[in-house]
Amino acid sequence: MSPSTLISPLPTPLDVLGQVFGYSEFRGPQEDIVAHVVAGGDALVLMPTGGGKSLCYQIPAIVRQNAGHGVTIVISPLIALMHDQVGALLEAGVSAAFLNSTQTYEESSALEKQLLNNQLTLLYAAPERINTPRMKGLLTSLHERGLLSLFAIDEAHCVSQWGHDFRPEYRSLSLLHETFPDVPRMALTATADHLTRQDMIERLKLEAAREFVSSFDRPNIRYTIVEKTDPTRQLLRFIQTEHDGEAGIVYCQSRKRVEEIAAMLEGAGIKAMAYHAGLDAKLRQQRQDRFLREDGMVMVATIAFGMGIDKPDVRFVAHLDMPKNIEGYYQETGRGGRDGLPANAWMVYGLQDVVNQRRMIDTSEVASEEFKAVMRGKLDALLTLAEGTRCRRVSLLGYFGEASQPCGNCDNCLNPPAVWDATEAARKMLSCIYRVQQASGINFGAGHLMDILRGKPTEKVVQYGHDQLSTFGIGHGLGESEWRGVLRQLIASNLVRVNAEAFNTLQLMPDARAVLKGEVSVLLRQQAPSSKPERSKRGGKPVKTSVKGMAEATLNAGALERLGRLKSWRAEVAKEHNLPAFVIFHDATLRAIAEQAPNTLHDLSGISGMGVKKLQAYGAEVLRVCAEPQ
Ligand code: ADP
Ligand code: ZN
Repeated sequence: MSPSTLISPLPTPLDVLGQVFGYSEFRGPQEDIVAHVVAGGDALVLMPTGGGKSLCYQIPAIVRQNAGHGVTIVISPLIALMHDQVGALLEAGVSAAFLNSTQTYEESSALEKQLLNNQLTLLYAAPERINTPRMKGLLTSLHERGLLSLFAIDEAHCVSQWGHDFRPEYRSLSLLHETFPDVPRMALTATADHLTRQDMIERLKLEAAREFVSSFDRPNIRYTIVEKTDPTRQLLRFIQTEHDGEAGIVYCQSRKRVEEIAAMLEGAGIKAMAYHAGLDAKLRQQRQDRFLREDGMVMVATIAFGMGIDKPDVRFVAHLDMPKNIEGYYQETGRGGRDGLPANAWMVYGLQDVVNQRRMIDTSEVASEEFKAVMRGKLDALLTLAEGTRCRRVSLLGYFGEASQPCGNCDNCLNPPAVWDATEAARKMLSCIYRVQQASGINFGAGHLMDILRGKPTEKVVQYGHDQLSTFGIGHGLGESEWRGVLRQLIASNLVRVNAEAFNTLQLMPDARAVLKGEVSVLLRQQAPSSKPERSKRGGKPVKTSVKGMAEATLNAGALERLGRLKSWRAEVAKEHNLPAFVIFHDATLRAIAEQAPNTLHDLSGISGMGVKKLQAYGAEVLRVCAEPQ
């Protein structure tokens, strides 16, 4: 069905928003972006995950097609998700399709025919597809007929090697502009550090495009970073106390770790699955589908999982290993709470993470020195965030160039960490590194240095005569975990470097001099005993971020009961249509229906998320389900 059968001829963007998507107002900058693109302008859209990027190209696509401009080509790297994205549009009554390699020649030909007859509003395709001779030919034919309305390049940061999802195929997208300079283009991404943004503009030749930069804040996400002590137990406790039965993602660095953690969670009775690039594509697809379709599933994954996962009710994102940089961290944590309801971003991190990440950069054989330097700088910024004592959100947003006030919704705001004057400890550590180097002519690793500081005459210490050093035993006042904390923070502050090319030995950096000479003092974050669940500032109960709790608090018994029935009904419809439940109706829409207990189609039509097509298709059913005897 074409949308023109649903809405008035020449609909305005606001008509489309209401009639097709069932929403009454644009969010933030959506209105300006849509107006600019409808008018044929190029745009670069930087908006956080969950900000509402899809409507920014879907509405112009519909408006422009109705005005006779033809099809919008959406370039998206996510072949696995195109089916659901297109499914959601079809549910809303928009004629959309995708082109991918699983289609037969006949299927592709049928699609091409539809396109040339101006029957499609949106066509999704992967970037590698755009470059095939057949696709180029098709685009040229459409262009000749004046039926090429707009190119929307989703996840545009994939074009940049500074981004965290570099896809070389994206590079060739500059051809679009060269071949069809008069067709408007928009590029959209949730990643926006300065370097990536500049690279994106250059690579995609978007110098003349208008930039729309939204606030990157995700106020409903609570950020927590705790010291890694016993990660497996810490994770289990976190899920059991704060997210029992809820959907979430757990990121680990290695495939092996992913498998172990998924098995551990399952053993503890939590619905969990593993996902990484080592699994075959079919299994990955199956697991992704289950994650999207089943309630309360935990996905344990490497970073191979997640780009574009638009499941709205992911209630937590946990990092068991540190990501490479803040962009990666922000993108991954951004997958929580797309529905705007509370979500947790929780990370454990320790000295080993710092060492590992440094080593990966230093020992990379493919990267140039320039590239390594940039990556080290990005890692340092993440370390500073992790070790920092100020509001996490202020630090995060600051990294993206946005000023903000302490948020009251992160661990550092809720539980301000104590700071201690670690100048003495830092000097001891630094001078120990110095003395050892002087005495032996080589550097040593963290374990050995801590043994010397704490006065432990291990075999190695004695063998090198390090028990004779003036620094032997000067650090007995602090325990090993405190020394680790000191060292980690010295590394984060760039006073000490871990040399991955020489067995992870520790080296002094130039700035260490001033500390050694007593010219600057070092204030460090007091490590909180991290095994306890986080507590709010007012003391009392552990902070709980449960959506179930919120729903219960706001719905009365009758409404709750209706919500249950509506959800069962939705599950059946979703299954029949082979789509995730949220594509049929969002939780928020069902909750509003349950609360208002509508009696007529007219009552229903005012509910957010209820477009004209969905009202036609499901309205009567929804009323029947609502009215069922209790
Ligand atoms: P992004 O692609 O930026 O991560 P989406 O386009 O998936 O975000 O939108 C996030 C959610 O917000 C979706 O569920 C979408 O339906 C909803 N949404 C977007 N714009 C509006 C709006 N103007 N009013 C209400 N809901 C909206
Ligand atoms: Zn804060």
